[in-house]
Amino acid sequence: MKKIVLATNNAHKLQELRQMLGNDYEVAGLADIGCHDDIPEDADTFAGNAMCKARYVWKHYGLPCIADDSGLEIDALGGRPGVYSARFAGNHDSAANNALVLKLMQGVDNRRARFRCVICLLDGNGDEHLFEGAVEGEILHSLDGEGGFGYDPLFRPLGWNKSFGRATADEKNAVSHRGRAVEALRRYLEQNILSSTENE
Ligand code: IMP
Repeated sequence: MKKIVLATNNAHKLQELRQMLGNDYEVAGLADIGCHDDIPEDADTFAGNAMCKARYVWKHYGLPCIADDSGLEIDALGGRPGVYSARFAGNHDSAANNALVLKLMQGVDNRRARFRCVICLLDGNGDEHLFEGAVEGEILHSLDGEGGFGYDPLFRPLGWNKSFGRATADEKNAVSHRGRAVEALRRYLEQNILSSTENE
């Protein structure tokens, strides 16, 4: 099994990635490699933030790693919350973030939005590779479901009759921004064995 670091402490993301990469990879989180630092994420694009995190791990721990950044873009709000998705209304407070979106979208007809995800892979040679995914959808008028995380209960993918908040993990992964970016990463890893991540 090959070992790869995912630059996150988010248990949900680790679990999602493990599920999507299957049995070929052992995915280690930041705590697993002894990193308890608050890694700076101050770029103004998803790609910039993903690269910041991956470079940090490479620089301080000398380990190949992957890092992602993602968020919600709402057309009627000029693309907000975007890179500020996690801290739109409060620091990682999903209930407050969702309440703010509902407030700002009150009376707004154009509900079009998308989740975007960019993954940066910093390979064993220090080279960077970017993978992107997006899922188009609409912002609902009220919360629908309690599953998932973040803005899931407010986001209904185009063609669906329910929000991500009522989707199973498999249903969501099949179409989600992160699912698509991870699939692109998985295909790349399959074709380009990262020699320095080999454990065997
Ligand atoms: P980050 O990639 O962990 O920085 O995610 C930023 C924020 O975007 C999260 O805290 C959520 O608020 C939002 N977000 C990203 N992906 C999703 C998703 O799949 N569902 C719901 N919210 C998401």
